[in-house]
Amino acid sequence: MSNATPSSGPDEFELISRLKAKLPTGDSVVIGVGDDCAVIDAGVPGQWQLHKTDAVVEGIHFTKDADPQQIGHKALGRALSDIAAMAGTPRWATVTLGLPDGFDAETVESIYDGMAALAKRHEVSLVGGETVANPERLFIGVSLVGEVASDKCILRSGASVGDGVWVTGELGGSIAGHHLEFTPRLAEARWLAAHHQPSAMIDLSDGLAGDLCHLLVEANAGAELLESALQIRREARLRARESEAAKPPLLAALTDGEDYELCFTLGQGRAVMLLDQFKQEFPGTPLSCVGKIVERPGLKIRQKSGIREISTRGYVHFQ
Ligand SMILES: [Mg+2]
Repeated sequence: MSNATPSSGPDEFELISRLKAKLPTGDSVVIGVGDDCAVIDAGVPGQWQLHKTDAVVEGIHFTKDADPQQIGHKALGRALSDIAAMAGTPRWATVTLGLPDGFDAETVESIYDGMAALAKRHEVSLVGGETVANPERLFIGVSLVGEVASDKCILRSGASVGDGVWVTGELGGSIAGHHLEFTPRLAEARWLAAHHQPSAMIDLSDGLAGDLCHLLVEANAGAELLESALQIRREARLRARESEAAKPPLLAALTDGEDYELCFTLGQGRAVMLLDQFKQEFPGTPLSCVGKIVERPGLKIRQKSGIREISTRGYVHFQ
């Protein structure tokens, strides 16, 4: 399950760049297309608005038999994760529900229960919505508005050569259940911005290899990861053990989507202090420095056997 555009159409990122040129933007737009959220200066001194829209679709982001409460949780959680990526605070959400034929009211209520529970936990108000018929399958679109102090907003751009690459939580094997149950890292992101001001940040929705590359492109730099530093989710290891067709755990950690963790960069001098303070503040959230930003573009991984190059699609070969 991952972000997906129709398989016969253009690549998602190619499509975005084609559309980007056509979009009108005014003076109030600080960041338009191209980061985790749009950033708007709505005239409140020292504060920016964050805008995000996201959708989940049956058969792509969840299966027909998934728990409706978890579907609701995921629909809102994905948008919250993008607000986290900018170190913001989510405030107001509206929901569009596309309902297939024969859908019952109890299931719709359960979807809303899942969304409402998560919204409550993060003090988000659900302020409206729209229900439309969508004969073949269920979809849920969420539009979310958040806020961030303008000097605390963390963008995808800003990483420098020498910065450490950091990741919260564990990676890979999300399909086994994490993709429906994850906790958006809002508190961690705001704490990081307040105390350590990461140089760049993104949330992991398409896999570490692909998402980290967005930071690298912005920085016109590369990164070298350390295999032994990656925290791989147990389910990724189990799947590899149970089926030869499953991805090897390392590849799963690098390329499986839907981890909904934070990936950020930070000057190396702060590593020990960050680890120590983060552990005290968030004892339940793993945090690892998984590599560093290097001058030469591209993504590499250092293993016992040598250094390998990684493509965003996961092809790995020896140098
Ligand atoms: Mg994102």
